[in-house]
Amino acid sequence: MSDRSTAAPASNFLRAVIEKDLAGGTYAARRWARSPGDAAHHATGDPDPARIRTRFPPEPNGYLHIGHAKSVCLNFGLARDYGGVCHMRFDDTNPEKESVEYVESIKDSVQWLGFGWDAFGASHLYFASDYFDFMYRAAESLICAGHAYIDEQTPDQMRANRGTLTEAGTDSPWRNRPAGESLALFRDMRDGKHADGAMVLRAKIDMASPNINMRDPAIYRIKRAHHHNTGDTWCIYPMYTYAHPLEDALEGITHSICTLEFEDQRPFYDWVLERLAECGLLAHPLPKQYEFARLNLTYVVTSKRKLMQLVTEKHVSGWDDPRMPTLVGLRRRGYTPEAIQLFAERIGVSKADSWIDYSTLEGALRDDLDARADRAMAVLDPVKLTLTNWDEVFGARATEPCAAPVHPHHPERGQRSFNLSRDVWIERDDFMEVAPKGYHRLFPGNRTRLKYGYVIECTGCEKDADGRITAVLATLVPDTKSGTPGADSVKVKGVITWVGAVDALAVDVRLYDRLFTEAHPDAGGRDFLSVMNADSVRTLTAFVEPGLAGAAPEARFQFERHGYFVADRKDSVPGRPVFNRAVTLKDSWGK
Ligand code: ATP
Ligand code: MG
Repeated sequence: MSDRSTAAPASNFLRAVIEKDLAGGTYAARRWARSPGDAAHHATGDPDPARIRTRFPPEPNGYLHIGHAKSVCLNFGLARDYGGVCHMRFDDTNPEKESVEYVESIKDSVQWLGFGWDAFGASHLYFASDYFDFMYRAAESLICAGHAYIDEQTPDQMRANRGTLTEAGTDSPWRNRPAGESLALFRDMRDGKHADGAMVLRAKIDMASPNINMRDPAIYRIKRAHHHNTGDTWCIYPMYTYAHPLEDALEGITHSICTLEFEDQRPFYDWVLERLAECGLLAHPLPKQYEFARLNLTYVVTSKRKLMQLVTEKHVSGWDDPRMPTLVGLRRRGYTPEAIQLFAERIGVSKADSWIDYSTLEGALRDDLDARADRAMAVLDPVKLTLTNWDEVFGARATEPCAAPVHPHHPERGQRSFNLSRDVWIERDDFMEVAPKGYHRLFPGNRTRLKYGYVIECTGCEKDADGRITAVLATLVPDTKSGTPGADSVKVKGVITWVGAVDALAVDVRLYDRLFTEAHPDAGGRDFLSVMNADSVRTLTAFVEPGLAGAAPEARFQFERHGYFVADRKDSVPGRPVFNRAVTLKDSWGK
């Protein structure tokens, strides 16, 4: 990899917009009163020290996934790069399904990814539900200005009167009721005098608009539901499409970045903010919405609903199962924040939907771990190798110390040490009784090097009654120890990894595979559960170098020839780590 820490981030349409706004001073005159609020509030503040304000606004109804990470890196990254602030905002205006557990995990994940919300001497952590009072007040203003009305049509009538893509909608019979009547009914709604669903507050825009979202969208509904932040204070809740622009405006957001499916909502976003600015509740310049393509990753589902289903139906062990595309899952799998940031940088942002190949994510992890991860030897599918001439070479000595660099390109990181002994664990597939052409590892009569050790010559094997190989036999070739003067006097074509039986550490290792067998698990409405990979995890007992007994949770290693592994942060105990394979060394995901 080139030195990415100094490389300028690639430009994209959002950077172009921001640079133009900064050059033109679009937001230069904004004031910020050190907390969210309406026009009067911000008018009391100083000029905003933040050159731009972005926000990351998850709904706290699940754990963050790799798709969210794209949005986190984008919003926090733009704020960082342009002298701005990114607000961490919980979009918790929907009382159902939201919980404090999710709030905490989302905060943890954003911080783990390397971002924070402290800037200009203040914390920018906000909850949209704190704005319910303003949203209510704004709705009353819209009613008074003739821009909203209470509709008593049934949901079915409303749906029928909405029209279609080719036909205009039909005005509600309640559309032209006096503002005073709507205002009284809206207050009654708030005071709990009407049943859930009996009526809604709608914006009065245009039932013939070619954009269906502009055909008098609902902005408030009655819903008797307990809210995790406001409790039972409210029995009416704002609709998301109304709440979101208001949240942005109260927080002085300049660039409100969302995914493409909200493109058709942009006219309403602008409409509602303009109307409230006319009422004097908000001040220009107003926030602007920009849309980018969401992340679609092959072999992965990123809908929170589907991830929730995997968890609640116990197809995985939890939100942090290392096979999950959640950030807590990727973290347990061995992903680093830097790898995910690198991934986000590489995929960039565009305005066209596409699928990103899973290998792009794995490639970013390999590129990050290559320099970072210490090396170690591990034998995942062990068979015993016996060095039958041990006593002739070493006499009464039971062990022969060997050493290897912690990292081949970083000698300053020192050496690791381990012992060769008469019995050694090697990979079962490093021996063949009858070898095909091109096989350079162990077979009778062939010489191979035990990496960081000696050249050995295979002499045969032992088997049990079922014909299964129980031991491979070899003789050690004296004076061939790696790193000693005579080491190269005997030339071999193969090198194998090994762990001395005398000091091998037995550990549990989990090998993960993709969770789905299809690249697009939920394509065309398919039930994604029907294409789950039945063999997505395999647990085995492996032998690893003794030095790994001290592996701290989340320490990452390259097991030579096998891939990158992480000491599981939950299941490891002191002296006995459990390793998860984060990624193989080479791309094994068929294209
Ligand atoms: P879901 O539909 O699965 O519930 P969501 O998009 O509704 O996901 P939110 O909590 O509303 O989830 O998302 C928070 C932010 O993350 C939004 O601004 C959204 O645009 C962004 N986001 C969510 N999924 C993706 C994705 N796959 N790619 C890029 N950004 C995403
Ligand atoms: Mg959502």
